[in-house]
Amino acid sequence: MDISYILNHLGEERENYYNAVSPPVFQTSNFRFKDVAALRLAFTNEKKYHIYSRGNNPTVEILRKKIAALAGADDALVFASGAAAVAAAVIANVKAGEHVVCVQKPYSWTHKLLNEFLVRFGVQSTMVDGTSTQNFADAIQPNTRTIFLESPNTFTFELQNIQEVVKLAKQHNIITIIDNSYCTSLGQRCIEMGIDIEIHSASKHYGGHSDVVAGYLLCNQVMADKIFASEYLNLGANISPHDAWLLIRSLRTLPIRLEKIKNTTDKIVEWLETHPQIEKVIYPFSKSFPQYDLAKKQMLWCGGLFSVQLKAKNVEEVETFCNALKQFMLAVSWGGYESLAVPACSFNPRRQYDDAAFPFNLIRFYIGLDDVEILTEDLKQAFTKIE
Ligand SMILES: *Cc1c(COP(=O)(O)O)cnc(C)c1O
Repeated sequence: MDISYILNHLGEERENYYNAVSPPVFQTSNFRFKDVAALRLAFTNEKKYHIYSRGNNPTVEILRKKIAALAGADDALVFASGAAAVAAAVIANVKAGEHVVCVQKPYSWTHKLLNEFLVRFGVQSTMVDGTSTQNFADAIQPNTRTIFLESPNTFTFELQNIQEVVKLAKQHNIITIIDNSYCTSLGQRCIEMGIDIEIHSASKHYGGHSDVVAGYLLCNQVMADKIFASEYLNLGANISPHDAWLLIRSLRTLPIRLEKIKNTTDKIVEWLETHPQIEKVIYPFSKSFPQYDLAKKQMLWCGGLFSVQLKAKNVEEVETFCNALKQFMLAVSWGGYESLAVPACSFNPRRQYDDAAFPFNLIRFYIGLDDVEILTEDLKQAFTKIE
């Protein structure tokens, strides 16, 4: 299906709302029925009919159709956050006494879900270095039901070989879930590579304006029906119609935002790679990236997020550099219009940086919709503060 058609027309039944070009926000919790027979019919399929907005809402439905088509999935569910989508996907596919294999260093709340929350309900998890598929094979137990991937992760960008892990999982009848937030469905075709459930934090690139927190879950029809009838309705972490409307609006510009972000990121990364005050740049589409070949093979798009190791003598210098940034704001999250920086040294209140994974001089950047010149100028003036 053509991407422009999906973004601009799919799911929009304009004749049903006065031919308005932009769909209405169906800001309603409830829907009325003309008679008992209609009510009885609706109760047979809460996912299809409009009964109550914790289940199905017409504005949310438009968004669901578009994001499912973009991913090449049968169906989509939209949650109030990426974290809720992750939790629903995992909880739907594991029960007490069962086991999850997860890539190490996933998003922090994915880590907590698996290593704290679900442990209370008798679910065990093993975290593995995902740069080798063999590590997944070695971690599989007779009770392993789910493998959770996040490729790349969003701080140090290690990848997993998606097709290899899918093949392994299918041999063992294990469900695969991937957090595809970095690439979006346009930038990495996870469903086509055989992944069972693709998750996104829609708060990032999909939202794109730093004004909505939401999550997407994409999968086949059987899985979508199963999750809808249980986790979706039971946890009740549904999105509001207004936020769904904002996300529909954001979809119209997703491809051009990604293109601009990629172009700017490539230029900044190239410049930083030879900069005398930079020790190392970590970016999947850099030739120096250890998994460059795999990145080029399975990712159609790379941009926005990358990390650097600053040539700094101590943490104070890292702080001086970061504090000097003006156009780049110091903040978590990413995927919006604004460019951001977050140093790893802010994570550790005790200022002990012995963890090889997050060295003291590691800084993550996000390139938003700013022009390359203003960002380069900002970095240049910050570099002068630590010369
Ligand atoms: C932000 C993020 C999440 C969580 O999404 P929320 O919308 O903040 O709940 C999950 N995974 C990744 C990779 C993220 O960056």
